Amino acid sequence: MTPRLRLQPEAVGVGMTSQRVRDRLIERLRAGSDQADGIADERVLNAIRTVPRHLFVDEAFATRAYDDTALPIGHGQTISQPWVVARMTEALFADGAQPKKVLEVGTGSGYQGAILAALGLEVYTVERIGELLRTARKRFRALGLNVRSKHDDGRIGWPEMGPFDGIVVTAAAPALVDALSAQLAPGGVLVAPVGAANGQSLLRLRKDAAGNIRQDVLGAVVFVPLLSGTID
Ligand code: SAH
Repeated sequence: MTPRLRLQPEAVGVGMTSQRVRDRLIERLRAGSDQADGIADERVLNAIRTVPRHLFVDEAFATRAYDDTALPIGHGQTISQPWVVARMTEALFADGAQPKKVLEVGTGSGYQGAILAALGLEVYTVERIGELLRTARKRFRALGLNVRSKHDDGRIGWPEMGPFDGIVVTAAAPALVDALSAQLAPGGVLVAPVGAANGQSLLRLRKDAAGNIRQDVLGAVVFVPLLSGTID
């Protein structure tokens, strides 16, 4: 192979992940669409602008990393669509909530966790597939992000580290998981996709100071399922 040929894919990669391409994604998220409300929280948009999503997917998908779409990450799992990540993250800060410590269930590529860390949150994340978690940890380290993680069934949450001001569940379950809402601090917000395997409602739960829970629906989403147990 000539040097010129070897350089070509790299040159394409740089173009497709440039600041201009990233800024276009931000404008799209801000504007919204018929199916998706615009994202208004500038802190969240800024985190998405800052975190290099192309480093959270295989090189083969890097050119599509700034499309507003989910992408495969192996093991039948996906990195969530940027709009979904933005919406879930924004929900943690809604109504004047000021979260500090957050739990993510379903580390996957590590992208959502990285966005939360970029917002200055203290992040705890749990993943059931060992290999995905190992890759995500390398990304956190390479980017200098301080994210605490464990290989476990996230349906039990992380009780030793709770309660959390925010909990983000990034895999779908037929019903809310009680063990997780129990780890929500007063004033905390939990966001989770709940419903059938082929489509869910993104629910937002807010626990008030007295421990009462209020629930609303943020939109329609499709997530991979929340499964039990762990695999290597
Ligand atoms: N937040 C991820 C999205 C990953 S997709 C990202 O930003 O890339 C959902 C992830 O949830 C998958 O990696 C899947 O293995 C994981 N998952 C499913 N059930 C789980 C469980 N019970 N505990 C922990 N992780 C789980």
